[in-house]
Amino acid sequence: MKTIIKNVMIFDGTKPEKARDIVFAENILDDLSADGSTEIIDGTGCTILPGLIDSHIHLNSIDNLKQAALYGVTTMLDMMTDDAALVDSLRHQKGLPDIQSCYQPVISEPGQMLIASLGQVSSFVNTPKEAREHIKTQLEKGADYVKLILENPPLVTQMLSEDIVAETVRYSHEMGKKVFAHTTSVQAYQLAAEHGVDVLNHIPKETALLQEIISEIKEKDLTVIPTMLMQQGMVKAIHRMMPGRPADYSIVEKTFYRMYKAGIRIIAGTDSNMTNRMNFIPHGKAMHEELKLMVKAGMTPEEVLKSATSIPAETFNLKDRGNIKPGFRADLLLVRGNPAENINDIDHIEKIWINGMPVQLTA
Ligand SMILES: [Zn+2]
Repeated sequence: MKTIIKNVMIFDGTKPEKARDIVFAENILDDLSADGSTEIIDGTGCTILPGLIDSHIHLNSIDNLKQAALYGVTTMLDMMTDDAALVDSLRHQKGLPDIQSCYQPVISEPGQMLIASLGQVSSFVNTPKEAREHIKTQLEKGADYVKLILENPPLVTQMLSEDIVAETVRYSHEMGKKVFAHTTSVQAYQLAAEHGVDVLNHIPKETALLQEIISEIKEKDLTVIPTMLMQQGMVKAIHRMMPGRPADYSIVEKTFYRMYKAGIRIIAGTDSNMTNRMNFIPHGKAMHEELKLMVKAGMTPEEVLKSATSIPAETFNLKDRGNIKPGFRADLLLVRGNPAENINDIDHIEKIWINGMPVQLTA
């Protein structure tokens, strides 16, 4: 069935456009002619934008997808679950967000704290050869990219060595895959930047990043997924559980702003999960909060919307989405107001479509 939205403001994934009519079925179309079965919606006062891409989530059940859909999240990148079969069973579900996954990450031997928050890790690596074999196994299962956990003790028994990081990047690139790293410390950032890890996740909350690392990330054209909501929640959790330990959300904001001003490619991701006992983050709703926190930290609403649509699509090679143009998937979010000017308008959802299928917003 064809739908036409009349006189709607457009944020096409790259820039705002003046109000006009748009038409779509499963994909965006360009023939605006209507027939008897065409649904016509008056879009006056509303904005249409591409479905949101949450580039950092953890998938635990189909409910995560249903929740995310209610907030206009139409693509999610899973960054580690303990259940590859579950991920596979949830791929390409009609009317639900599309997912990608790394399956299991390259990780050194976990400590008790990490096991408590993430659950058992099925395998860990000690040598570059083991890292390569681990990655090969994940890719054979169908992993879309490679995840690397660069964590310090006591979360792991030791930080992954330089030669393991180097081999992970070399082999993944040889296999045509990007490497995402969990980087919550300055040390992890240094290691990831030095070895050209493609995507750095999280922002250190103990110390602001020095300009030197920021410049290296920019020069090497690496990407950062800041996960502001997760960092904010972790600062609160640390103050609650380990009152003496340094952690400050304003440090996270400061580093975010420095990276933004340095022109680093920044992509929105929530770290939504139902397993981190220190910081549960609900799927879907978290994405709206993440976008608001990015604006609060100094990014313009227009840049923030790009970081959740066209930029991840382009960076992660999702060629059929992230933009509103003919032939692209009709993953669409219709909101009252104009979130490219006021990000809070992202909450004012009127309708959502995933691949042209309307999402049921009320029970
Ligand atoms: Zn995560």
